[in-house]
This record gives sequence, C-alpha cells and structure tokens, in this order.
Amino acid sequence: KPVLAIVGRPNVGKSTIFNRIVGERVAIVEDKPGVTRDRIYSSGEWLEHEFYIIDTGGIEIGDEPLFEQVRIQAELAIEEADVICFVVNGREGLTAADEEVSQILQRSRKPVVVAVNKMDDHSMHEKLYEFYSLGVGEVYPISGSHGLGIGDLLDHAVESFPKVEEDAYGEDTIRMSLIGRPNVGKSSLVNAILGEERVIVSSIPGTTRDAIDTPFTKDDQEYVVIDTAGMRKRGKVYESTEKYSVLRALKAIERSDVVLVVINAEEGIIEQDKKIAGYAHEAGRAILIVVNKWDAVEKDDKTMREFEQKIRDHFLFLDYAPIIFLSALTKRRLQHLLPAVNQVSESHNLRVQTHVLNDVIVDAVTMNPTPTDHGGRRLRINYSTQVSVAPPTFIIFVNDPELLHFSYKRYLENKIREAFNFVGTPIHIIARKKS
Ligand code: GDP
Repeated sequence: KPVLAIVGRPNVGKSTIFNRIVGERVAIVEDKPGVTRDRIYSSGEWLEHEFYIIDTGGIEIGDEPLFEQVRIQAELAIEEADVICFVVNGREGLTAADEEVSQILQRSRKPVVVAVNKMDDHSMHEKLYEFYSLGVGEVYPISGSHGLGIGDLLDHAVESFPKVEEDAYGEDTIRMSLIGRPNVGKSSLVNAILGEERVIVSSIPGTTRDAIDTPFTKDDQEYVVIDTAGMRKRGKVYESTEKYSVLRALKAIERSDVVLVVINAEEGIIEQDKKIAGYAHEAGRAILIVVNKWDAVEKDDKTMREFEQKIRDHFLFLDYAPIIFLSALTKRRLQHLLPAVNQVSESHNLRVQTHVLNDVIVDAVTMNPTPTDHGGRRLRINYSTQVSVAPPTFIIFVNDPELLHFSYKRYLENKIREAFNFVGTPIHIIARKKS
C-alpha cells in the first residue's frame, strides 16, 4: 500500500486531519481483541485506494529543539512517503517555518499537496493564494475541524500514488519477512537461514523501491526474504525513533505471506513487539513466533514452558501462532524453522471441502448450542462456505448476523481450526444474513 505522510509545523492541525482521513474510510467491523493500535499510523481508504497514513507530528524525536524535530519529521516523511500532505495554517498565513519545511520538500521530488487548514468558510479563501508561492504543489483549502475540503484533497493525493508494483515471484514462492525490534537478531537469522545446507541463494537479489529481497530455494521450495530495510539501512534518523521502524515493518508485512515475529529471549516481550505482531495479525498473514538467542538464556527443564506461557499471555490474539525457540548464533534448532514456515504457509492457503466444513459446524452446534438474545431469539446457522484463502475466510449464512456474538464466533473458529489443522494462520469468519 502506498504511504501518505502528513507534515507541518506544530499546531497547524495535523492530527485533526489525520483523524478525519482515517475516519473517512469504510470501516470493516470486526472484533479484534488484544490488538493495540498506534495512533500515528493507520490504514486509510479513499475511492478504492487503500493506503497507509502517518502523522509525522506524532513521531517523538528525543529532545531536539522544536524546529529540528519538524525538519527530521519532514525528512522521514520524504524517505518513506509516496505522497506528502503539507499542512499549513491559513489563518496565520505563511510563516518562516513553513518556508523552511517547503524547501526540504522541494528537494525531495515526491508529490506534495498543500492543505491550507482552518479555512472554515469561503470568505477566507483569498488567503489561499500566498501559499502558492511555496512552490511545492497544488493548494487545497480545508477545515479539519469542520471536515471541509478533505475529499478534494484526497482525490488529488490518491491520483499521485505510484502505480502498483507487481512482484515477479511465482505463485508458489513463499514470501517471508522477519519483524522485530533492532538487535533481536533478524539479520543474523536471515544469514543463518541462507547459510543452511541445501539452501541455494539466487545470485540476483530482487529489488523494489522499498526493499531488497533475497530469493532462495531449499528442497524445491522457493522462498524470498523481504528485507525490512531497517536490517541493512541503518542511520541516525532510523535509530533515533523506534516508533518509526513500525512503518518499515508494515511495508514488509504487506508483501509477505509468512511473518516471523522475532523476539529476543534475553529481553523478553515489550509493547513494541505486540504492536508489530498486531499488524501482522490484522493483515491476515501467517505468523510464526521466533524466540532467538535461546543460547544466551540460562535454562532448566521448565524455562521453555515458562517462556512460552509468557508469550501466550502477552499475545492473546496470536494463540494460533507456533513458537520456535532457536539460536541464530549456534544454529541450534534452526533446522525447524523452514519446515514451520512451510507448514503455516500451507495452512494459510488451505481450502476445505464445503460438505466437510458444514459437518464440522453441525457437530460444533450439537456440542454447544447457538446463543439466544434477550428476547429468546436463537442464532440459526444455515450454511457455511469458504470464500477465500490467505487467510482462510468463511462465510456463515445465518438468520441474523447480530446474534453471532464474539465468543460463539471464536468457538466456531476454534472448531474449524481443530478439524482442519489450521496452524499459524488467522481465520476470518463473516456472518451473512441468509437471503
Ligand atoms: P537485527 O537488528 O534484529 O537485525 O539484529 P542483528 O542480527 O544485527 O543482531 C544483533 C546482535 O545480536 C548481534 O550482536 C548478534 O551477534 C547478536 N545475536 C544474533 N543472534 C543471536 C543469537 O542467537 N544468540 C546470541 N547470543 N546473540 C545473537
């Protein structure tokens, strides 16, 4: 998905506009417990275009002076964004700080739309013209607080998105990415995998605008490791803001079939790990949890079970993801990794037979009857069918979708999971009214 970044000096209304744009998308209502969201990143949707939106004003950059922060935010936006929305305050008019930001943006050659905010009524539109002198792009009057002009702005922004890049890998290639905080051992792990016996690394790395891919083959299965860029491209700006690396992880997740959530056994789990794993879950990718540096942990016969329990407690929403303990350094247990990748990928793409699926649901309902509402109306399940894979998605036709409560849906999900041995993949269940 392309990235739209919002840039501008403090208090021009960046987060109001961010919230407006996020709010404009058609929400797909789904219960997603345990998934935390980061306020400064979100998915947006406009006229069939899906994109990420990032409010650079929310990125914390240590205790740099204010203008320095704005400058770094602008540079980050340029680096990552496909289109930049530059927000200025129409009531105050052009300021010196705006001009400095615009100079940074001019050098970038990325498309820019200027959002002149706080234009709450038409009488103010004459104020617009001075902003053309910034010379960075089309100028749109908007009112974040009244929600005016956002549509025109988005029309223009989505037009400037780059055309979708098709990647050249075959249908059967497993696209995998490793996500996790700096220093958990992602690059070491990639090197260890590529160094395994019988692994043949393609001599030509695939490159896209955002990542360096490493295609390889093992036992006739083709894979590609999608580099989260952060692995190779390191610099002050990237390291100065941990939050920022989330965006890189998001882009890798977007292109992956299987996501390896890498955790450092020495450090345990922190909020950041959960956030990134939450995105992989929401994106419906197959997921493996990899606990690296297991060599560095002092262990007895209970340590692994305890660590596993800790992971399960922290990642309630990833109860389906297998956990692998290994060491990239000593290569211990490394041989289990690719087979696990194959297994979750297979589950992710598994298509079940409709009649077997319906048998499973009938059995599930027999064991644990469907719920009723306060008026005594009972959920009736008419018929179920799998509509897609990656992730496996099922439609259940019912008398009234409102009657399918979260807990019962979860119950059915678990029954389906058990019956067909879906490992390491989320399962989506959609209730539809039987027409
Ligand atoms: P990345 O930032 O996630 O790519 O992490 P790196 O692969 O650069 O690894 C960070 C540090 O952890 C390096 O000093 C590695 O040598 C070390 N490291 C990586 N894997 C292991 C491991 O399995 N065990 C131990 N003890 N150290 C490791």
